[in-house]
Order: sequence, then structure tokens, then C-alpha cells
Amino acid sequence: MNQNILSLHCLFCKKELNTFVLKNIIINKTSYDLYDCSKCKISMLHPFPSEEELTNLYSCGNYRTNTGKRFGLTIEFLIYLGRLSKRRRISKYVKTGTILDIGCGRGLFLNVMRRGGWHTIGTEFNEETASYAIKTYGLKVLSGDIAQHKLLPESLDAVNISQVLEHLKNPHEVIKESHRLLRSGGIIVISVPDLRSPQFTLGKEKWFLLDLSYHLFHFNE
Ligand SMILES: [Zn+2]
Repeated sequence: MNQNILSLHCLFCKKELNTFVLKNIIINKTSYDLYDCSKCKISMLHPFPSEEELTNLYSCGNYRTNTGKRFGLTIEFLIYLGRLSKRRRISKYVKTGTILDIGCGRGLFLNVMRRGGWHTIGTEFNEETASYAIKTYGLKVLSGDIAQHKLLPESLDAVNISQVLEHLKNPHEVIKESHRLLRSGGIIVISVPDLRSPQFTLGKEKWFLLDLSYHLFHFNE
């Protein structure tokens, strides 16, 4: 990918970018800017970390933790309740079937779905994290990018992409592939950090979900 083109133009609509959400944020001695595309309602990090830098970022085992737990017990329990609630909401649209969780992490959401009668498939870039999901819960977890596995078209009933699109250099291609894999009437559930959040308005570069330079994109619609 040509970094010079990315620095000036939106990756999606190709509009020239000349406004900033944030400027000169220093992470590990590198200066980053967050450009805004008003047309796509999206903000893009510049420069993107190189493939080598991304590999280093994600090479520390389970995403930012070596213990298998990212948060304290209380927060983990609240997140668990959130997963149960999400399963109920998905079941309002599709009773049961096969769900793909793109970027399934430690497999906690897929485990909840499977206990609710769903067949599950996950994808996970980080080998150590994928290994945790496979060994701890016996889940089927594919490595790398979903597109490379060439799953059968219209073979899924639900796709979950939770707090993942902002990490990817090709979020639009992942959504396109998800659409190809979904049956008619299937459901795609996406959650992303929202720049309209009051926490960002108040905290700016200190906002927890800004998470540079892990997050390449931020959304505001
Ligand atoms: Zn754009």
C-alpha cells in the first residue's frame, strides 16, 4: 500500500484529506496524526504502522495481556453479562445456526454463543490468543484473514465483528467477505469505537478507546 497516497487521500472514497481530528500524537517516539474524512465519517491514522511494527505490536501474546484476562474480575463479569445480552439480541433476528466471530480473541463470546446452541467459527490473527481459545474452549479458530479461507458462500447465519474493524487495513474487504458468507436473512453485528463518544470529546488523546497505534481507523457514524 502506498503510504504517500494514504497520507493525502481517503482509503475508501479517495477524497483528499486536509483536516485533522488530532495532530502530533507521540507513541513510542513516532508522531501520528488522525485525519478526518467528512464524506465517509471516518478518521484514519497517519502514518499506518508498517507490517513489521504491527507484528511487534501484536506479538505480546493475548492482546495487551499475558494472563488471559484483560480486566479485573468485576469488569470481566460485566462484559460476560454483555455477551449474554448480545446473544439474546442476535436470537431475536436468527434463532440459531452458525456464527463467525471475526477477531474472536480468547473465544469468550463464541463460547457463550455455543452454550446457546450455536455452531461457531472464529478467526484470530494472534497465534497465542487463538491457541488459548482452542485449548480452553475447544473452539474452531482459523488463522489470519477470513478471505483467505474461502468459506462457502451463504454458509453462515450470523457474523460478529466486535472492536476489530478499527484494527484492520482492509475493513471494507472484511465487510464485503462477511456479506458473501451470510445467508439471506442472516445478521452482521458490528461494534467500533465512536468518536462522537463524550469520553473522546472530553479526553481527546487520553480516550481509552483511541488506543493508538493499534487502531488505524475511528468511526463517527
Ligand atoms: Zn472518505
